[in-house]
Amino acid sequence: MPTEPITRRVAFIFPIYNEEENIDLLHRTVDEVTAPLAGKYDFSFLYVDDGSRDGSLAKLTELSARDERVTVVELSRNFGHQMAVTAGLDLVDADAVVIMDSDMQDPPRVALELIEKWEEGFDVVYAQRRSRQDSAFKKITAGGFYWFLRKMAAVDIPKNTGDFRLVDRKVVDELRKYRERDRFLRGLVSYIGFKQTAVLFDRDKRHAGVTGYPLRKMLRFAADGILGFSVTPLKMITRMGYLISFLSFVGIVYVGGVKLFAPETAVPGWAFLGIAMFFLGGIQIIMLGVLGSYIGRTYSQVQNRPLYGVASVRTGPGTPAEARE
Ligand code: UDP
Ligand code: MG
Repeated sequence: MPTEPITRRVAFIFPIYNEEENIDLLHRTVDEVTAPLAGKYDFSFLYVDDGSRDGSLAKLTELSARDERVTVVELSRNFGHQMAVTAGLDLVDADAVVIMDSDMQDPPRVALELIEKWEEGFDVVYAQRRSRQDSAFKKITAGGFYWFLRKMAAVDIPKNTGDFRLVDRKVVDELRKYRERDRFLRGLVSYIGFKQTAVLFDRDKRHAGVTGYPLRKMLRFAADGILGFSVTPLKMITRMGYLISFLSFVGIVYVGGVKLFAPETAVPGWAFLGIAMFFLGGIQIIMLGVLGSYIGRTYSQVQNRPLYGVASVRTGPGTPAEARE
């Protein structure tokens, strides 16, 4: 039975924190950029106001009165960027979702390239920065962070990639199952898997207003990224303990050997005390590492992540079950 071609729905999620001077321009630009495709896709725009203290909410209310494709969600206070996007993902209803910053740093026209890749069959299309127009400080700290994160993390988190990306409905459904409180969405998306690809873009300057990520929030965010996807820091405790114990053991053998076999060589009395102290210190650190391993397991258990995600089930002559309904 031939099925009618249905218009696929594409939703945009915009987290908003004090962006009153950017909202109009942002909406106008996404509207212009998506207009040529309006026949092909059903576009909608979900603005999540993350407890803004300026006139953002009023601007958004105005916008929703003018444009019926706009939905505005007002959070009860400032919960932070990652939570704002999470709220958007929980509430959105579309076949594909584009997540973008609202300060014009993520150029809206790139969204079209993301959609093109989605049409090619990718479930996650992330926009990877070829260049960025931020302060030297931001570039250096961000560079260091991604280097460190890739060294530490158990999943492959692409570098130079923020939350600007398109995710298919399947991925949104999976993401909703992840309810951990300290959220590092781009890590979760990598962790979840599915078919992922990148589109390169040049990141612009913030159009107006100031960053909602001061150093304090950036450090916290970095900690969420590293701690959420790695138990390497805990493993380092154990390694350190072994190293110290081993070295002091070598010391003990040396001092004892000298005492027994070459009593004429003077070994000061404190050498015994010193080595014994380091040895015990080493043992203690190993024990901390043992505690750490249990804490690590407890941590991943309380994160309560789904154990796996299913991309498709094939039965019979190799057709995905979803396509045979
Ligand atoms: N944002 C948010 N809540 C916050 C901080 C930021 O929703 O507590 C939004 C902000 O409005 C923007 C996006 O998250 O759309 C990225 O923030 P920002 O541009 O301030 O970060 P930067 O680009 O400086 O890293
Ligand atoms: Mg920004």
